[in-house]
This record gives sequence, structure tokens and C-alpha cells, in this order.
Amino acid sequence: MVFSSPTGDAARQQPWTTWGGSASCTPAHRFAPRSVGDVVRVVRRAREVGRTVRAVGAGHSFSPVATTDGVMLSLDALDHVDQPVRLASPEGRVTHEVRVGAGIRLHALNDALAAHGLALSNLGDIDRQSIAGAISTGTHGTGGDAGTGAGLAAQVRAVELVVADGSVVRASRDENPDLFEAARLGLGALGVLVSVTLGAEPAYVLQAREEPWPLERALGAVADGSFLAGDHAELYWFPHTRTALTKRNDRRALDDAPLDPLRGWVDDELLSNGVFELTNRLARAVPGSIPTINRVSSRALGARRFTAPSHEVFVSRRRVRFVESEWAVPLEAVADVLRDVEDWLARTGELVSFPVEVRFARADDVWLSTSHGRATAYVAVHQYWRTDPTRYFTAVQEIVAAYDGRPHWGKMHTLGAERLRELYPRFDDFVAVRDAVDPDGVFTNGYLERVLGR
Ligand SMILES: Cc1cc2nc3c(=O)[nH]c(=O)nc-3n(C[C@H](O)[C@H](O)[C@H](O)COP(=O)(O)OP(=O)(O)OC[C@H]3O[C@@H](n4cnc5c(N)ncnc54)[C@H](O)[C@@H]3O)c2cc1C
Repeated sequence: MVFSSPTGDAARQQPWTTWGGSASCTPAHRFAPRSVGDVVRVVRRAREVGRTVRAVGAGHSFSPVATTDGVMLSLDALDHVDQPVRLASPEGRVTHEVRVGAGIRLHALNDALAAHGLALSNLGDIDRQSIAGAISTGTHGTGGDAGTGAGLAAQVRAVELVVADGSVVRASRDENPDLFEAARLGLGALGVLVSVTLGAEPAYVLQAREEPWPLERALGAVADGSFLAGDHAELYWFPHTRTALTKRNDRRALDDAPLDPLRGWVDDELLSNGVFELTNRLARAVPGSIPTINRVSSRALGARRFTAPSHEVFVSRRRVRFVESEWAVPLEAVADVLRDVEDWLARTGELVSFPVEVRFARADDVWLSTSHGRATAYVAVHQYWRTDPTRYFTAVQEIVAAYDGRPHWGKMHTLGAERLRELYPRFDDFVAVRDAVDPDGVFTNGYLERVLGR
């Protein structure tokens, strides 16, 4: 079948794969719409000829959430940033709203906001994703008691999307509120997002404090609340050691000292990227060296403090490819989960070269948010992309099951709708909205059939 392109940018039968190589597909057609009108025409035409449609961002999910054998749409060209609108009565720190094209990458968005003297309230640890892709899977950073919510979807004020009948619908808390609740973290299941309106606040700087701590001290400080007293806190536990690298980022006055560039290069480029790639190759060739490598790495990453614009502190470059599975567990369960993972590693002799990343979030109200309705700790496990992660990730999935762990929608897991319905109180509300706006499954794929049940 020849699928006529409204844009001339269609490409047929080219394989597509995610950043970490954990999911791939061969879409029948690929389009890069240049306008909302193009998106409408592609969706209408796909529906007429019985093709499914998936929008894709940067392909940075590890789960097959974006895959399709139908029509794949890249919204890279929809990357505008409208003039920010000042709010009459600011909500907390948010003083502005800004509407952006759904395909804009987070790094471009951060730069554009900075040019207006604005910033997002929180970010994850990289900025390569598109805003639509990031919110659609529940991308989050880390919080603290003084911080804002950790999830990007909670910063969304309105969305515009092209739904299955080809109409363009706007949704916010006041307009189509149920569609808004579903579409701000929608797994690509409701339609193609064409714009996202975000809350933004005056630009701010963060002081980062990075220190290696004994794991017991870090978990004790999480349990007594002192670790989470600031704005943003996280820790990296090196398996086969009792050491955690702690990171705490707190808001500071704009004129604080900037990052020492040499120290930043040594830690970020040499130890997190260049040397880390080499140590992972060594670990793959000689797995028995992993405990030693982890001990050396956890000591080499020394204490440092620096202050920089918020988006520069939140994100780092990740040049070592990996695959990842991440679970949201109740905050109070985090020490037990790490202990169970440590026990499993000791019992089985499995060797893991990547640190386990632990982040935190306050409860939010987004229907499919992994931190919906409960204070949350995120436990993320990684494996070098050339190493089969199945045994490790399966064990962690089984461990967190006892603590009602919710999987990150964009990371690797094998849960299906039956279990997810138990984990999300608003699961059926989400499915009802999806059935109403996409009764024929124009936007479905194999992953959605598994996690939504159809
Ligand atoms: C190195 C690395 C670091 C990461 N760090 C973090 C982190 O710190 N925190 C975290 O939570 N996650 C993190 N992730 C996961 C990542 O943020 C999510 O998987 C995110 O969804 C990727 O965004 P993307 O633009 O690549 O979207 P894709 O993976 O391309 O797509 C994700 C979903 O969004 C949908 N989608 C994309 N565009 C649209 C649109 N216009 N309309 C409707 N649906 C759309 C797709 O259909 C799909 O369902 C990381 C991933 C990598 C590879």
C-alpha cells in the first residue's frame, strides 16, 4: 500500500530502535509533520486505511511504548515556544505559563525559557527527550520536602491534541478536565499531542552537594527525614559495596559561585562517561572484576559542591549506553527494597557494574503518575546495553511486587493491565477516557494492549 504523504517526508519500512536498543520496530510509514494541519491529515488518512498511529519523541524510552508497525510520527518540527504569559495570581513559585510545540526537546526548551528569565520547577537527569515524550511516560526528577513535585506531567497546565477523528481538542483543568487528567500522562494512547502548556517560574540556581556516604547513614537519613529536608535529593548505591554517592540540590541566591570547570569535567566526563564506558567493557570481559571496580568508583567520586543555573545542575550527559528498569515504591519501603536487592545479589552471585539510583517524589494527583497518591521512592536499576539484563531486572521486579512497586511506563517491566489496575486507583478512569476518544484503537500498539488490557 502506498500511503500518500501530506509533507513529502514519509519514509517507508525503515527500522527504528530506542536509544538503549531495548525495543525496535519497523513502521510501515514515517512522517515528520510540519504543522498541526499535517498531523490532522495523517491521522485521518491512517484511520481511513486502517493503520495505527504512534507519535515518537527522542526514542529515549526503554519499554516498547513508542513502537508501531503502522504510522510513526515525529513532531520534531513542532518546536515553537510562545511568548510566556504572566499569571495574575501566581500558584506557588509558578509565575508564568508558556505554550510550546509538543516536539521540542527539553534542552531547547530550557534554553528558550532561560532567555525569558524563566525555568521549569524540576527536571529528570537528562534533557534529550521531547516534552511530549517526557510527560507521556511520567518522566520525573527527584524532590525533597521543600521541593516541588518531581514529575514533569504535574507541571503541565494544558494540552492540545489531535484525536482519532482528526479533530484538534484542547484540555485543561477547566476544559475537558477528564481528558486533561488522562492526556498529561497519556502513554500516547489518547492522540497526538501538538502543544503543551507548562507552568514556569523565575530562573533560579541550585547549589549541588555531592558526597559519598556509608549506605546505612544515607538510608538512616532518609528514614528520619533529614535527607529529604531540602529541595532535591537522590543517592546512587554501588552494588557489592556499602557506599552511596549522595546528591542534594538546593535553591540559592543567583550570585552564588559557579561550577569549577575542571572539577566538573573530571567527574562528569571522565568518571561518568569516558572511564565508565571502559570499566563497563572491562566488567563485561572480566565479570569478576566488578566488585573491585565498584569499590574504586565509589571512592573516586569524591565530595564536591558547585552552583549553577537549575537546568545545568539537574541534567548530565549520558554517553554510556544502558538499559533500565525503575520502580516507584512507598517511601518507607526503600531501605527494605535495597536490602532485598543486596540479599539477592549476594545469594545468586549476580554481578552488577551500574549504581542503583534512588530518587524521591511527593504524592501527586496525575492519574497514571507513578507517585499518584503516595510519597514515593524510585529505585532504578541499570545494565550495560551489551549485557543481558533479564535475570537482574526480573529479580528486582519480583522484589518490588511485595511493596506494590509501580513500573516507570517508559522503562523495562513485564506487568500487564490486571496488576496495573490494582496499583493505580484511577486506572479505570484512564481507560474509560481512552475508550471514549479512541474507540477503534487508532493509537494503540502491543505495549498498550498489554498495559491497558486492550
Ligand atoms: C539516558 C536516559 C536518561 C533518562 N533519564 C530519566 C529520568 O531522569 N527520569 C525519568 O523519569 N525518565 C528518564 N528516562 C526515560 C525517558 O525520560 C522517558 O522514557 C521519555 O518518555 C523519553 O522521551 P522521548 O521524547 O524519547 O519519548 P519516546 O520514548 O520517543 O516516546 C515515549 C512515549 O511518548 C509518546 N509520545 C511522544 N511524542 C508524542 C506526542 N507528540 N503525542 C503523543 N504521544 C507522544 C510516545 O508515543 C510514547 O508512548 C531516561 C531515558 C534515557 C535513555
